[in-house]
Amino acid sequence: MTLKEQSIIDTKSELQEKLDFDKNHIWHPYTSMIDPLPVFPVKKAYGAIIELETGEQLIDGMSSWWAAIHGYNHPVLNEALKAQLDDMSHIMFGGLTHQPAIELAEKLIRISPEALQHVFYCDSGSVAVEVAMKMAKQYWYSKGAIQKQKFASLRSGYHGDTWNAMSVCDPVTGMHQIFSGSLPVQFFAESPDCKFGHECTDTDIESMEVILEQHNQELAAVILEPIVQGAGGMRFYSAEYLKRLRALCDNYNVLLIFDEIATGFGRTGELFAANHAEVCPDIMCLGKGITGGYMSFAATMATTKVAHQISSSSPGVFMHGPTFMGNPLACSVANASIDLLLSSDWKSNIDRISKLLYDGLQLARGLDIVQDVRVLGAIGVIEMKEAVSVAKLQRVFVDRGIWVRPFGKLVYVMPPYIISDNQLQFLIDTLVDIISIHCRYE
Ligand code: PMP
Repeated sequence: MTLKEQSIIDTKSELQEKLDFDKNHIWHPYTSMIDPLPVFPVKKAYGAIIELETGEQLIDGMSSWWAAIHGYNHPVLNEALKAQLDDMSHIMFGGLTHQPAIELAEKLIRISPEALQHVFYCDSGSVAVEVAMKMAKQYWYSKGAIQKQKFASLRSGYHGDTWNAMSVCDPVTGMHQIFSGSLPVQFFAESPDCKFGHECTDTDIESMEVILEQHNQELAAVILEPIVQGAGGMRFYSAEYLKRLRALCDNYNVLLIFDEIATGFGRTGELFAANHAEVCPDIMCLGKGITGGYMSFAATMATTKVAHQISSSSPGVFMHGPTFMGNPLACSVANASIDLLLSSDWKSNIDRISKLLYDGLQLARGLDIVQDVRVLGAIGVIEMKEAVSVAKLQRVFVDRGIWVRPFGKLVYVMPPYIISDNQLQFLIDTLVDIISIHCRYE
């Protein structure tokens, strides 16, 4: 055996040892500690490529769960972080402030629906949802309406994994059963049947209207994902639903919260999904792509009506203040990411991705194992008739050079915006080919 051959074997066994340690000691998202799904070791990622320790280069179809909108290892974002590091990586936000936080708030206020004028920085999407729900509750508390404690949401919704966020996720496919008894009980309207681009009839919004009519005295807010219901079903619904809902919330004196954590920053073809409906919520949550996927960070925005009401009577302050609030590194990379997006012709780019997804995924529509194929902005979804085996498909995807992570019946892609035509075509063609061959025999 040559020295080179010996060193390859040593590296392989070292890697296997590390993977065994990972398997035995590290929890991955939603996995068993006894029998976890396999994980693939990543060495590095750049552009739309994920490179594994084992040498494979995968074309990324996931943007690390909606977040890495500019792809990986972007020189502009790297530079922003390096520059900020020389000034300070973190400083407490109580009693202190800094340029990156101020600049980011100016940007968010400028680009988001007009009435959202106040920004609360927090740590992750789930926390942004907790903060939004606390804001709604505190708004009514400060008005003396202490009975307004509950929230209405949609079936097939998803808002995160923390306590209150869980309580407004889909009650069947979410985590309600396990945590029932501990979670606050909320109200759930039917998921809108009116598809994106179609009108929304009285019937489509009826179940939400009934909840608002019957329970408005106890409701603090309605919370939903505008236009795209993501992890709860990848459903795209009519912008008119949001228009009608805004009117209903005003009529019944209930606040409206939009969770734009997945949809924000261009993913649906508008900068924010709310823009499809030209509707402004009272409170809006942003996360994921806000830092270009570089680090965990989020923001909850509120109108002056909400912010000033909370501040106008006892306790007169909003009761939340995380340690890493307004982290300067996160704010700097978020500033760079937003500048990068806005300085590009992002709308045409999303349109380019959308067209390729639409044309390429059509082939899957003809397969008898496929229930539906849908595309909106830079999101492409193949809904299967039966749930797929993630473990089996994932291995095949990796072997064929793509990174796609299905769940349940949904096989979907939301690639980084910098993906080239060739890379995207390869991703789509390979995906459809694998599905047509491998899903038949599950
Ligand atoms: N809301 C929505 C719509 C999401 O998609 C997610 C994340 N998948 C969250 C909230 C929670 O965000 P995080 O995972 O950063 O806590």
